[in-house]
Amino acid sequence: MAPTGPTPRPPAIEAVDVSRTYELDGVSVPALRGVSLTVQPGDYVALVGPSGSGKSTLMHLLGGLDRPTAGRLVIGGRNVNSLSAPEMATLRNETIGFVFQAFHLLPRTSAVDNVALPLVYRGIGARQRRERAAAMLGRVGLGHRLHHRPNQMSGGEQQRVAIARALVTDPTVLLADEPTGNLDSATGQAVLALLEQLNAESGVALVMVTHDREVAARARRQIAMRDGVVVSDQGAEARPAATTVPGLHDRPLSDGDGRPETLRTAPSAEPRSASGSGPGHPSGGSGGPTGATGRLPRQAGGAS
Ligand code: ADP
Repeated sequence: MAPTGPTPRPPAIEAVDVSRTYELDGVSVPALRGVSLTVQPGDYVALVGPSGSGKSTLMHLLGGLDRPTAGRLVIGGRNVNSLSAPEMATLRNETIGFVFQAFHLLPRTSAVDNVALPLVYRGIGARQRRERAAAMLGRVGLGHRLHHRPNQMSGGEQQRVAIARALVTDPTVLLADEPTGNLDSATGQAVLALLEQLNAESGVALVMVTHDREVAARARRQIAMRDGVVVSDQGAEARPAATTVPGLHDRPLSDGDGRPETLRTAPSAEPRSASGSGPGHPSGGSGGPTGATGRLPRQAGGAS
């Protein structure tokens, strides 16, 4: 009899020969030209490439914010071409978390209410939303900052709130667009360590656009793009760090003071950031970060 191992888990996202062409003033702009890739549960991927190579377009597609012009894109087992806009919004809310360079938190809303927001669209009662948001903030080391507003927090703290907001819905995939781009290097390292810890311990797949070679080198898998195609995909066969995948809320990342180990040693003197007043919260009614436009906000000054 053939040996039976654990049943392989289906891919978190599968793109097969995906193209995306924009029509601009009667001109066709081929932003993606036949991209095939699979994001496995628990993956840790850095997406790199020069400006204009198609990274943002690909992230929009992987996040269910846009559909391919041609090819097959399956997110969480669902072919996006067969879904209506509301179904896409639900799929995003259930499957994908987003983190941005500029945080995009509601600046005058408390950390706990920022984090609780995506749960509104799950039909979860207010009290439970707050409890889950508070627990998630504890997991990112901000259990002591529940009622601070983003404009009272450092850049590193704001990004941790944004990470908590992205993960409070227990998504399968976290898409991060230059998550350390607005942070000084020590704070950026701490945020990256937190993302890595969440990836390793909870099994959420992490797909991160970065221009920073050192950041990219830390990922288990590097996908390089140029002119709308994937030119290399290294480490794709590597096993994900997490072999069992408990929900994010199933166990704490740390004990003691509620701060993850990686953050206990992080510098406390993070610079105050003036940002945190992004164009809107990312996991709004549509379950996605796009507000009315259906587009991810471009990063001010970002190179993507
Ligand atoms: P990157 O994120 O790597 O900088 P993008 O995905 O933003 O690359 O862009 C890929 C190509 O598609 C570029 O040539 C860009 O000018 C074009 N492009 C991106 N968005 C649009 C759009 N909304 N309309 C027309 N062209 C676009």
